Amino acid sequence: MSSPLLAEATRIAREFDYPADQVQRGVAEYIRQSNEGLAKENTTLSQIPTFVTAVPNGTEKGLYLAVDLGGTNFRVCSVQLHGDTTFSLTQSKIMIPRELMASGTSKDLFTFLARQIEAFLRIHHNEHFEAHQRRRREGHEEEELFDLGFTFSFPVRQYGINSGTLIRWTKGFNIPDAVGHDVCALLQSAIDHLDLPVRVAALVNDTVGTLMARSYTSPGETGTLIGAIFGTGTNGAYVEKLENITKLKHIKDAHYDTHTGEMIINAEWGSFDNQLSVLPSTIYDRDLDADSNNPGIQMFEKRVSGMFLGEILRRALLDLYNNAQLFKATETSVPSDSFLHRQWGLDTSLLSDVEGDTLPQMPKIKAALKEHLAIENPTDDDCKAVKILTHAIGKRAARLSAVPLAAVLIHTGKLDTDDIVDVGVDGSVVEFYPNFEGHLRDALREVPEVGVAGDKKVRIGISKDGSGVGAALIALVASKDE
Ligand code: ADP
Repeated sequence: MSSPLLAEATRIAREFDYPADQVQRGVAEYIRQSNEGLAKENTTLSQIPTFVTAVPNGTEKGLYLAVDLGGTNFRVCSVQLHGDTTFSLTQSKIMIPRELMASGTSKDLFTFLARQIEAFLRIHHNEHFEAHQRRRREGHEEEELFDLGFTFSFPVRQYGINSGTLIRWTKGFNIPDAVGHDVCALLQSAIDHLDLPVRVAALVNDTVGTLMARSYTSPGETGTLIGAIFGTGTNGAYVEKLENITKLKHIKDAHYDTHTGEMIINAEWGSFDNQLSVLPSTIYDRDLDADSNNPGIQMFEKRVSGMFLGEILRRALLDLYNNAQLFKATETSVPSDSFLHRQWGLDTSLLSDVEGDTLPQMPKIKAALKEHLAIENPTDDDCKAVKILTHAIGKRAARLSAVPLAAVLIHTGKLDTDDIVDVGVDGSVVEFYPNFEGHLRDALREVPEVGVAGDKKVRIGISKDGSGVGAALIALVASKDE
């Protein structure tokens, strides 16, 4: 070392340090905010009761339906649970016509969804479908309905496992007459209108689906404690004692099964510490937030998830470009319309590509700079500077991710026994960023109440298909509550 460029990159990288004492402060504050969220409404951590009161152990059996409305596509699937931790899944995916997302009525949208369910049943479960129609014609009492789990990734106020009213639309949807209505009832009435053999059994949040899917598929007897997503956004769900969810008594019309004494809580941890009492902040974090469309909100998510890590790196690189000669060697070319200059121009997958390059010639970094930023012929120092910043930003995200995990482990007392504690995770960041879990575990061990011994008890596994098999499992749990 060291050229002025690398010296400056190293100085900036240090601003992303998130040392053990800060991790510990973060965990203590997370526990405080999570207790507050269990006691009252309108807190930083929402700690939303999901009314799901049991987790599966892998022995569950049956055929269930699941649908997922959350973005540009509507997914319909059926899941056969074999009862031995395995399942088979049949799926179809349909793009939602734009006019139904933003200009029609809720009846138009939900009728469209019910029609897709009908088409799916006719293709994949026609025997069951026809038998139902026949029984109806012959005037039999209804006997066999498919139980359906409805993954609906918009803010809802939930009252029971299969009821919740829409608070507001997000992600480009805007159908005003649905707001304030029970989305399960809207879907059920469209289904009934078409006379389909389907009962909307459960309203599902995707993190809860992740937890359930992992609990069904993970080896061993103990159920999963935490489901966590590190993808476009970040969020987590965990199993809480009913007696700790004291705000439940304030929810009018709440109805749920009490015999397990537990309920899954959807933490909505993307908004942990929005007031920034303990979260680390660099100038890049502050500018990213100020220029975002929701300043002051989702502050934890803005330091951890895929939607934001690329933008943090872009801002740090731009700083080096403007002030420290990054990409300024005579042979290097940065087109004026390079994504380096555009807000949200850098995809987080670049961080994984860069971090994954361990070769002296740095071929992957060069390829990634070309692919993502149209930068030709970077020097070795340019590539090293990119790597230094990438490593710092990715490592901070992974260490921050340990905070909610450690807090839940401590708060639930699950490390006090010799049992394995199972955690299911999903999302491209945790799946593809090299050594994300390793950095996360380093930070976990630095929390004294977890330590090396606690970390050894924690088993982390990828949990795919939360909105498929997870939603099916929630429908199953809901149908058993009846
Ligand atoms: P979602 O959370 O939307 O269901 P993903 O889990 O695939 O979907 O997360 C998408 C996010 O992950 C995007 O923000 C994207 O930039 C980021 N991403 C995609 N590929 C990678 C990768 N290889 N490494 C890290 N992040 C990635």
